[in-house]
Amino acid sequence: MHHISITPFSANGITYTPSAKPIVVICMDGSADEYLDTTLAHDRMPNLKKMILQGYRGMVRGALPSFTNVNNASIVTGVSPAVHGICGNFFYDAEKDEEVMMNASAYLRAETLLAAAADAGRKVAVITAKEKLRDILSHQLTGIAFSAEKAAQVNLETHGIENVETLTRQKTPAIYSADASLFVLKAGVSLLKQGVADFLYLSLTDYMQHTYAPDTEESLAFYEAQDAEFGKMLQLGAIIGATADHGMNAKVKADGSPNVLFIETMLTEKFGKGFRVICPITDPYVKHHGALGSYVVVHMDDISRIDEVKNWLTLQPGITEVYDKKTGCHILEQPADRSGDLFVLSGRDVVVGKTAAHHDLNALDGTLRSHGGRYEEMVPMVISHPLNTIYKLKAQGDPRNFDIFDFTVNGTQ
Ligand code: ZN
Ligand code: ZN
Repeated sequence: MHHISITPFSANGITYTPSAKPIVVICMDGSADEYLDTTLAHDRMPNLKKMILQGYRGMVRGALPSFTNVNNASIVTGVSPAVHGICGNFFYDAEKDEEVMMNASAYLRAETLLAAAADAGRKVAVITAKEKLRDILSHQLTGIAFSAEKAAQVNLETHGIENVETLTRQKTPAIYSADASLFVLKAGVSLLKQGVADFLYLSLTDYMQHTYAPDTEESLAFYEAQDAEFGKMLQLGAIIGATADHGMNAKVKADGSPNVLFIETMLTEKFGKGFRVICPITDPYVKHHGALGSYVVVHMDDISRIDEVKNWLTLQPGITEVYDKKTGCHILEQPADRSGDLFVLSGRDVVVGKTAAHHDLNALDGTLRSHGGRYEEMVPMVISHPLNTIYKLKAQGDPRNFDIFDFTVNGTQ
């Protein structure tokens, strides 16, 4: 076993005091608690069961909107979107009159604890399923960072590692597959085993959860395969912290068809022109959700009608929360300069979109399961080792999914 640094480090006001054990934090993308519960009930996650019995399992509150990059940015910084600035895949820059992608670390306003850990001497590795996350997660990081999606294209200079396919004995997986996530876990095991990393962040992808409900065989087998990798990490002496970026719910009517409210169409029909709806879930991975989630932002040309519009929207069936900018930024922890005039959230089985023409529902693999709103906000947290007294108490408070590094590093000794 190589030497593991125990030098404390700080990021965004939080101090981390690691022990000399490898740390592995896993973001099980889209893992609503039902996925763990169902697979555990089928006795197909023996290692997770062991972790829960000797360590901790509870629920934690994610960041809103309950999207992937928002919560991944929170997990690696330890702070909310209001602080780190990443509030979706897209935002509307009113000054430039442009819809701007937010996938680059240039939009990140906080330092990452991963970079701080590396500067303190930890051997840090970030492995993500989707390439789109790599830039944000590896911001100012001296260490290893690569994605399953582009594993064949890594080089030492930009990724801190080379020959990933040889090193991990795995071929680059298809992005719409269980393997895209399993590759990340297996690669993590390889790096641990070879001693090239001792502080890992492994971020999976939610293609499987978008496509399969918890009680399907596809889903059970997927979680069972993840569990096998957890077992190998435990055997290698790692402390594991696992959580999710968001949950996942079916967004369909009783007949199985997508349950969508096209907000821009609704507002234009009721109030006339002058509305721009932004769906911050929009990303290049169209098979997941057709850019439909349970959260949109509305920009208005005529702000004088805002109360009228807000009150009307609030009363529409399927809409659960509507906030103006000031209230929304406070309650939803959003950065004001990247938000709109109204925030709109929908029910557990409802998604909100722009106009029918804007969304390609034919691209979906099967049914519509998605996230983004309040009903995907609460997610599981599992820590493989017993919590100390202070963190047992913290766990009874209002712990966040982005406290996962804090719990895993500071809460287990
Ligand atoms: Zn996600
Ligand atoms: Zn998703």
